[in-house]
Amino acid sequence: MADSTERKARSTIHAGGEWLEAVSGATRDILDPADAEPFAVVAEGDEKDADRAVEAARRAFDGGEGAWPRTPVAERAALLRRVAALLVRDRERLGLMESRDAGKTLEEGRTDVDCVADAFRYFADLVAAEAPGRVVDAGSPDIHSVVVHEPVGVCALITPWNYPLLQASWKIAPALAAGNTFVVKPSEITPLTTVALVELLVEAGLPAGVANIVTGPGHTVGARLAEHPDVDLVSFTGGLASGTKVAQAAAPTVKKVALELGGKNPNVVFADACATDEGFDTAVDQALNAAFIHSGQVCSAGSRLIVEESVHERFVTELARRAGRIRLGRGTVPGVECGPLVSEQQRAKTESYVGSALAEGAVLRCGGRRPEPAADRPASGYFYEPTVLDRCNRQMRVVREEVFGPVLTVETFRTEHEAVALANDTEYGLAGAVWTADAGRARRVAGRLRHGTVWINDFHPYLPQAEWGGFGRSGTGRELGPAGLAEYRETKHVYQNLAPRPVRWFAG
Ligand code: NAD
Repeated sequence: MADSTERKARSTIHAGGEWLEAVSGATRDILDPADAEPFAVVAEGDEKDADRAVEAARRAFDGGEGAWPRTPVAERAALLRRVAALLVRDRERLGLMESRDAGKTLEEGRTDVDCVADAFRYFADLVAAEAPGRVVDAGSPDIHSVVVHEPVGVCALITPWNYPLLQASWKIAPALAAGNTFVVKPSEITPLTTVALVELLVEAGLPAGVANIVTGPGHTVGARLAEHPDVDLVSFTGGLASGTKVAQAAAPTVKKVALELGGKNPNVVFADACATDEGFDTAVDQALNAAFIHSGQVCSAGSRLIVEESVHERFVTELARRAGRIRLGRGTVPGVECGPLVSEQQRAKTESYVGSALAEGAVLRCGGRRPEPAADRPASGYFYEPTVLDRCNRQMRVVREEVFGPVLTVETFRTEHEAVALANDTEYGLAGAVWTADAGRARRVAGRLRHGTVWINDFHPYLPQAEWGGFGRSGTGRELGPAGLAEYRETKHVYQNLAPRPVRWFAG
């Protein structure tokens, strides 16, 4: 890849405006999951690199009048729009980089870049249109009382490997719009597009020290950022286990913490949605998309199909037939519909869940194994066939825990009440969908689902204007929308007495 990331090779740490190697000099090979071959090298930072980046971010935040937190909103918005334009310019390069790094198809990589540009534009528009403060009526003409928003300070942004560029942008765009400085730590498996994004921020004219990145592992760099006394906020997207560690590490310094964690997302299909051939085809097609896009490595993947018993057999037969025809291969090859899993570890985890499900009585309807190698599917790649497990129940591990692979479990229901109870029977609560031709039922069920996003007769779309986040153990904060900006702000009440007098509370 003749891109700037490769040109800098091991200098992928950016602190205080300089591109640096790790203090220790350590590096990490980045593997293409389609063949397990290294195709890039990055710096393997540790706690020392995290400290250096936080120090730079702190200096940039605390700087003088011209510093980023005090830059006029219109200028901050203009910078975000320039970043969006650079993303559009580099769409092909970044899409390809994401495809190779994360194993997704090239088309998915390109779509991610489009969504990221949208997020930058959205937050630019949001801050540019805002009133500078909210005047409060204090009940006296002598009092001027206003509530204003200020940036939180230095933000640590920790992101996962499934949507590297997208997840980083959902944090970076609002953090910058609000006037913060930050240190981003991408997943150690897929850091390339986040490094490239920081390059674009620099190219767009962001002052030195505002945007910092440390490539390296979670247990060193991530853990240090979470506990660092000079970090004011940590926004984390990743798994439940790491998220709880981050919350614990952040607690002693009472940082603001936003957690975007996993999901076990129900896709509820009522028989009336399948009453026509077109309705049936749509519901099956979308169930396939819900479960298997990016090989199921999606936090909102519809990995639990909950289908009304009367249409179960027809639905699952067609679903399994189509899942068995999904073309697996290297994401950059035209026509490939699903890439590999991101790592050997992720594939082993998927295999272990399928094994436990079968041992617990699930019925395999398709998949459940590694595919035969092919020209665009090397034996060394981390491929796994889309898998449909029928006759599942809520006691099974595969139904309760997030697999994060191409595995769809099937449960059935007879009544609306039962469907809702099944859909809500999860410790997570990120997203869910209901398919029905009955508008009243759609609204009733959507109203009762305990999930941060509910789709009616659709699956997966999100809007930058609408908040994204989870109930329960899917997390604590919200990204996107006005609440996604509010995460990066402090609220301050400024009360000005225009006619000060003694209060004489104390007589002496
Ligand atoms: P992960 O928890 O293993 O890692 C996420 C990030 O945290 C990585 O950068 C990692 O290096 C870092 N990390 C790990 N341990 C840490 C620690 N102790 N302290 C600080 N940082 C640490 O998750 P993953 O495997 O990269 O990503 C998959 C998970 O992300 C899934 O559970 C998925 O559902 C979730 N996810 C959620 C959303 C959402 O919007 N809710 C979006 C995408 C992914």
